[in-house]
Amino acid sequence: MRAFTLIALVPFTLGQQYMLNLNCADYPGPCNNDCYAIYVANKQRILNYNGPDGQSAARRRAAGCVSPTPCRNGRMATSNPDEDTCDEYPYASVVEGGSGAILRCTDFDENAEEGRRLSRFFRSTCGGEPCTFDITFGNPGGGNTPYCADGGGANDGYQYVYQGNGNYNLHSRDSNATEDDGWGLHEADPADYFPPHLRREFLLADGSRTILSTRDLTASYDDAIFYSTRNGTFYQTYAIKELFGLEKSLEFQDPALKNTRRAVPFVVNVDTSVFNDASIIRKDVAIIGGGSSGTHASIELKDQGHTVIVIEHKDRMGGHTETYIDHSTGRSIDYGVVVFHNENRVKDYFARFNISMTMENSTLNTGFYDLRTGKVVKTSNAEPDKVAAALEKYAHVVSQWPELDSGMFLPTPVPDDLIMSFGAFAKKYNIEAIIPTVSRLNTGVGDLLTMPMVENLRVVGLSLLKTLSGGFLTTKNRSNSEL
Ligand SMILES: Cc1cc2nc3c(=O)[nH]c(=O)nc-3n(C[C@H](O)[C@H](O)[C@H](O)COP(=O)(O)OP(=O)(O)OC[C@H]3O[C@@H](n4cnc5c(N)ncnc54)[C@H](O)[C@@H]3O)c2cc1C
Repeated sequence: MRAFTLIALVPFTLGQQYMLNLNCADYPGPCNNDCYAIYVANKQRILNYNGPDGQSAARRRAAGCVSPTPCRNGRMATSNPDEDTCDEYPYASVVEGGSGAILRCTDFDENAEEGRRLSRFFRSTCGGEPCTFDITFGNPGGGNTPYCADGGGANDGYQYVYQGNGNYNLHSRDSNATEDDGWGLHEADPADYFPPHLRREFLLADGSRTILSTRDLTASYDDAIFYSTRNGTFYQTYAIKELFGLEKSLEFQDPALKNTRRAVPFVVNVDTSVFNDASIIRKDVAIIGGGSSGTHASIELKDQGHTVIVIEHKDRMGGHTETYIDHSTGRSIDYGVVVFHNENRVKDYFARFNISMTMENSTLNTGFYDLRTGKVVKTSNAEPDKVAAALEKYAHVVSQWPELDSGMFLPTPVPDDLIMSFGAFAKKYNIEAIIPTVSRLNTGVGDLLTMPMVENLRVVGLSLLKTLSGGFLTTKNRSNSEL
């Protein structure tokens, strides 16, 4: 597995793609301006640094983003008095900067920080030599970077371009930026607007997500190096995978997918001419695996009017559902999936097949045996009050991620609490009393204590905790295979 590494002087290699991954959480104002420039004003996204060519000041002047900036005298400023520093895209330090750059007044500290990151990038990554790089936006969500996230395609009234000749006297001007003065509002062309759901989002090896500034939906970034910062230090990281459909952050999901929980369609181009037409099975959806997920999904799809084929490689459906039938007594006993959440959709599902259900309260009366000797293994259980208090605390902590109850809908960035091992998590919150209970609920996963907390949460989530307090359901005949 590729890890991220700190970089010192790493000269560019010909043909290698370098991505400057701006951490928008550190400087939302400039990021917002950059995103406006790229996604609304269709400005160039691949930029060229020419080395220290001494042209930055001239380019800044040509862009109209000079010091003292027009943001200081209230002419271009937003209503936020801290946003008194002019930010421009493309940057004055790159060849593409200068006349026609998109301007916005931003917070001084944010602007300075973005500038420092750029200089450090040029110094350390480009080695001070000419280099070409692409921009990506890390942490683009939240309310502070609307043009990176789900903001509209119109100018919010604070995006400018300088249309003058650079001969201006800032202090003598009035408080409205007008074309006569040189500064005019940038007029957004709807044809240039690139909507959020088309923006490409990637999961990086450090667990963060980033939005590529590209409008090219096919280019590969498998070998690209992403330069991200942590505590002001650059490190290299890589794209593990591109995110599609519901994997994407909410802001970047297709509106048609929002608030749905369904499979993400993907298209496979198959040359059907090589097959005998009579042997081709034509269905709307092919589901691979006839376990609980596949069978439930196939029935839902059928209800919605789709045709479905379920491909299962075993000679029975049901996946982990296993039932032993003692033929001498006719008694059945489940030894795979045993119990179900006490929820209406579970009851409705079983009722549909006329399978009676009952409450199962004996699940946690678990005996532990050493399979090599057949002897009972002594375990010490924590006091029930302590377990209950620890479970309550656990529920309180995980309730901050309600989306995770429906699947791997991870927040961005992924919190450390979810990445740390379950053992470390239990220790951090002083809830070690829940470990025996959780180990009985989350079986067959190997060493529970060393696996990531999120993997445990996938099973022991909010709905399971709710069921735990009220009791589980099971089939009346103790034969889940009936389903
Ligand atoms: C010991 C144990 C006890 C459990 N107890 C409970 C419980 O009491 N209650 C509960 O709610 N959950 C329980 N679980 C969890 C539950 O089993 C899973 O959540 C559930 O089985 C997941 O369903 P699934 O369809 O995603 O996967 P599975 O049930 O694993 O089904 C996957 C199916 O896909 C098939 N398959 C795989 N690859 C291919 C392929 N290439 N081509 C065709 N077919 C393929 C497999 O043969 C299998 O039938 C338990 C799990 C274990 C291991």
